[in-house]
Amino acid sequence: MLKIQNYIDGELVEPVSGNYLDNTDPSTGQVYSQVPGSGAEDVERAVAAAEEAFPLWSDAPAAERSDVMLRIADLIETRLEEFARAECVDNGKPLALARSLDIPRAAKNLRFFATAVLHAHSQVHTADGPVLNYTLRGPRGIAGIISPWNLPLYVLSWKVAPAIATGNTVVAKPSEVTPMTAYMLSQVCREAGLPAGVLNIVHGRGAEAGAAITAHPKITTVSFTGGTVTGREVAKSAAPMFKKVGLEMGGKNPTIVFADAEMDRAIEQGVRAAFANQGQVCLCGSRIYVEQGAYDAYVERFVAAARALNVGDPLEPGTDQGALVSKAQFEKVGRYVALAREEGGEILCGGSPPGPINDRCKDGFFYQPTVITGLSAECRVNQEEIFGPVTTIMPFETEDEVLAYANGTAYGLAASVFTQNLSRAHRLAERIDAGTVWINCWMVRDLRVPFGGMKQSGVGREGGEEALRFYTEPKNVCLQKA
Ligand code: NAD
Repeated sequence: MLKIQNYIDGELVEPVSGNYLDNTDPSTGQVYSQVPGSGAEDVERAVAAAEEAFPLWSDAPAAERSDVMLRIADLIETRLEEFARAECVDNGKPLALARSLDIPRAAKNLRFFATAVLHAHSQVHTADGPVLNYTLRGPRGIAGIISPWNLPLYVLSWKVAPAIATGNTVVAKPSEVTPMTAYMLSQVCREAGLPAGVLNIVHGRGAEAGAAITAHPKITTVSFTGGTVTGREVAKSAAPMFKKVGLEMGGKNPTIVFADAEMDRAIEQGVRAAFANQGQVCLCGSRIYVEQGAYDAYVERFVAAARALNVGDPLEPGTDQGALVSKAQFEKVGRYVALAREEGGEILCGGSPPGPINDRCKDGFFYQPTVITGLSAECRVNQEEIFGPVTTIMPFETEDEVLAYANGTAYGLAASVFTQNLSRAHRLAERIDAGTVWINCWMVRDLRVPFGGMKQSGVGREGGEEALRFYTEPKNVCLQKA
């Protein structure tokens, strides 16, 4: 059985302890590979390699760093099919999605930041007096990067790319639930000639390898994407050492549909927002609020569209919905659907695993797209992140009422508003507490824009300039001219 290896100091190595964890294919429920169960001693080695690599890498001309990153992007694209298949098997997501979204986006992330640093500029503050101020921006040192399982290579590369492009070195820990494409990335980095120690990938459990990263005094920058409860632990561990911390956490994102919306689009995008990647995207719209006059028709059409989604073998071309990532996630979704029933919800479709898919997938963690009505805005199902193919639909009457619903959770990651009334769209966009508001669309991403959450969804922003700033330290120089 394949044993994934850590990537430390340019080499593929076993964990010091020799411990491995099982890695399961969620579509079959079978263990198909092993992942290092690394600990503090592996992180220590990775930090030593990152420290040694830092002077040369941070001093290298931007064009040199850029070239090697572009080679990595090229190699990922050359092996697109291999990467996409690996992501599909490891995560349970449809192969078509990994092929069209996850893997191309990883290559794009690398290219985006590899070329952004070629256009970097710094600031000069000319003043009336006899002084001149200019601001230098240099890499911060060793960055610790911790990423989740839902978009494995996509999120990992979204963090690694700006970190290394700006001259930092990295110790990264991908999710132990989906480690395969990070392992393949380490192979590609070796082939592309990334200098040893610039990127180190340590696999293992969060409480062990992850906690060792956040606690390491030489890792002064920590970028984390994952659940809010874990984010709190990361913040707790990093705060006493005054690390710079970026946290991208959970969401409970509202989709708001007014009666004047273009309904075909509001249905199509609402369904995509609810169920993309089996509902396992932090940006998923899992609470849908529909204006009273349009409510009945919206619910009917939405349920029909949800029922039409094909839950199937993720390797098959016609599959819209693959497997949930793990047994734990499958059980969590089941628990929330049971809770929805207790809270008085009516399950209009789904609410259980599908019938048999095929022999290969008979023990997989599949769940049907589930639509629930009849719940209050305050109930737990409408307050807590489920992170599965489950959405609720509720009616509203006024703009102020729906705004209160939208803002009435602890989260503030994203929101979508569907309306043809331009003034209302702008008004709501301004008043919704979320890092991203989409109007008449969902999950249209532009790598230049700030990305992140408010309230318990996050601290800081990623994307474009924000990421370049996060991984660099400004230093102002003041010069007396006369
Ligand atoms: P998770 O919090 O369980 O794990 C995320 C990562 O943190 C994993 O690599 C894990 O091993 C590690 N980890 C766990 N405990 C740790 C600890 N004590 N110290 C350091 N690291 C630790 O999240 P998940 O279940 O992998 O991912 C799903 C969550 O991620 C959802 O809540 C989702 O909303 C969120 N997410 C957010 C964004 C965003 O941009 N805001 C994007 C994707 C996913």
